[in-house]
Amino acid sequence: MASTKELFVKNLAQTTDFPLALEMTRAEGNFIYDKDGKKYLDLISGISVSNIGHCNPMVVKAIQEQVEKYMHLMVYGEYIQSPQINLSQALLAVLGKPFESVYFVNSGSEAIEGALKTAKKFTGRQEVISYKNAYHGSSHGALSLMGNEEFKGNFRPLLPGIKQIEFNDESQFSEITEKTAAVFIEPIQGEAGYIPPRKGYLKKLRNHCNQTGTLLVFDEIQTGFGRTGTYFAFQREEVVPDIIVLAKGMGGGMPIGAFVTQKKIMDSLKENPILGHITTFGGHPVCCAAALANIEFLNSTDYITSVDSKSELFVKNLIHPQIKKVSGRGFMISVEMESFERLKEVIDLCIERGLITDWFLFNDRCMRIAPPLTITEEEILWACQTIKSCIDDTAQ
Ligand code: PMP
Repeated sequence: MASTKELFVKNLAQTTDFPLALEMTRAEGNFIYDKDGKKYLDLISGISVSNIGHCNPMVVKAIQEQVEKYMHLMVYGEYIQSPQINLSQALLAVLGKPFESVYFVNSGSEAIEGALKTAKKFTGRQEVISYKNAYHGSSHGALSLMGNEEFKGNFRPLLPGIKQIEFNDESQFSEITEKTAAVFIEPIQGEAGYIPPRKGYLKKLRNHCNQTGTLLVFDEIQTGFGRTGTYFAFQREEVVPDIIVLAKGMGGGMPIGAFVTQKKIMDSLKENPILGHITTFGGHPVCCAAALANIEFLNSTDYITSVDSKSELFVKNLIHPQIKKVSGRGFMISVEMESFERLKEVIDLCIERGLITDWFLFNDRCMRIAPPLTITEEEILWACQTIKSCIDDTAQ
């Protein structure tokens, strides 16, 4: 009989020839457990998803209660469903002004597609600017925004009229003109290796977009829901985008995304043609109930405000002669080593010792640290100690 690993490789689409292939059976809080009962501290939150830990009891309860009432009833936008209404109210409250209108979708990529279409439709313009080393998703529109030729080249033709500029370089603002519908930016670049903006950069970008009548779109799919020490990264920068794009940590572990903007901008999707963006499962009531519980959990605890001091604890305890740099912001921490080969040895041993971490799509010399916000100080100290001992124990 074939093993589960053989079935996984044979019958499930593979995304690489070297999947982690850990067989997980259970998760709770900051830990995931494999089929042999081995416990792993999750230092990456399933890539910035499990911000409030795995199987958070408030989320589990909300899901159970909603499942018993109803699941899918109708495509997005037709019926009034209280889980969508309740979530929109809670979400708009934590986003603040001028956000007024939420479009719920299923994933980050789909939210990016929706934001892209909205920006083109509202402005009547066709050109879009994004960034070198940006990652916004894998669908064709999102891929067109991607700032890495190696990952997008073989999927051309992509959307025309999209250009990538250099992050943190104001001299390139001249590319943003009266023809530009929108600038898409991650307020902290994720897959590039957690690169924060230089002080004042986003403010200057905002001013430039105001001058050209260009919509500023923040992709907060990784940075949202407390990960950087404020609810959303834009709140620390004191720069308000025209459209914010959300997913990942939004659903407390369930698949949901959204793009949120002012009513007058969102309304451009409902006419000429009507049904400018539609989705069957967007705003699924069970996912909305989970996402509401996620917000209620964050609102009723101080995990977001504890991110900065816990992040410092990582930084202080990740001093080692072979660690070249520790950078990032909040719980988006990047640990640089001398080479991919060296980092891979360390990551492999960390996993063997029960610590899950990995690298970045566009940066394979840096280790990703993005734990659930619920990680304890004790767990942080253990994680740092384990990383350092894995560096020592793999040294030649
Ligand atoms: N934007 C950013 C910044 C992301 O990190 C990701 C996912 N890694 C996406 C968009 C795409 O989200 P999804 O995988 O849910 O489509």
